[in-house]
Amino acid sequence: MALVEIRNVHKSFGNLEVLKDVSLSVEEGEIVTIIGRSGSGKSTLLRCINALETIDSGEILIEGQKIGPKMPNLKEMRQRVGIVFQSFNLFPHLKVERNITLAPTLTGRVSKKEARALAERVLAKVGLAEKIDSYPEQLSGGQQQRVAIARCLAMSPHLMLFDEVTSALDPELVGEVLKVMEDMARQGMTMILVTHEMGFARNVASKIVFMHQGRVWEEGSPAELFSNPRTPELQAFIGSTR
Ligand code: ADP
Ligand code: MG
Repeated sequence: MALVEIRNVHKSFGNLEVLKDVSLSVEEGEIVTIIGRSGSGKSTLLRCINALETIDSGEILIEGQKIGPKMPNLKEMRQRVGIVFQSFNLFPHLKVERNITLAPTLTGRVSKKEARALAERVLAKVGLAEKIDSYPEQLSGGQQQRVAIARCLAMSPHLMLFDEVTSALDPELVGEVLKVMEDMARQGMTMILVTHEMGFARNVASKIVFMHQGRVWEEGSPAELFSNPRTPELQAFIGSTR
């Protein structure tokens, strides 16, 4: 069974149909990259996977469980699915350590005693062990985004969603965040990410999904999609990113 199974999903905001019959499956350990123009429904799809948005029809299953506002263990599901956005959303008045340990201690995943060790462990994974006692404002944008990723890792997610996590960063800071994501991919994390970093998509993704006007327009391996785009829409999109 796939880790994520999206079947015939429709989603509208008022009269605007944003997702039109979207189906997609993601196997454990896969790195799925969603590309497409602004407004094509990429963020909405990610938000539906994490039940931050409700769908109008179709279904989304994570580890075989149908997700939605009525699911019995929505909270647990959210803990298993980490999401990182373009804006880092760290708490400015809390040190890095507390930013990371807040959710794991509040949910009882770790005791207060174990919390610092957990923060140390996940910060080491993003190369920021030495920043544990800093405040967010003392960090660069790239470092803050790595802390945001570490904060997700502290919940031991089975799946990570990334929505344009490098788009707000100065160009020289993009690489360090992509590197962390590449390391996570190598270590077997299942990831669905929206990105404009075509180099990353080409080198790291196991599957590329091109969305256009709310539909999965093309889907395939990076080699298939980038070297041999079948539709004029994808050809034009690839042309626009060069
Ligand atoms: P993308 O991430 O590909 O740029 P989005 O999923 O953010 O696209 O948006 C798809 C469409 O849905 C856009 O036309 C956007 O304006 C619209 N949209 C997104 N969120 C909302 C919302 N909460 N209310 C109304 N319209 C929305
Ligand atoms: Mg978006």
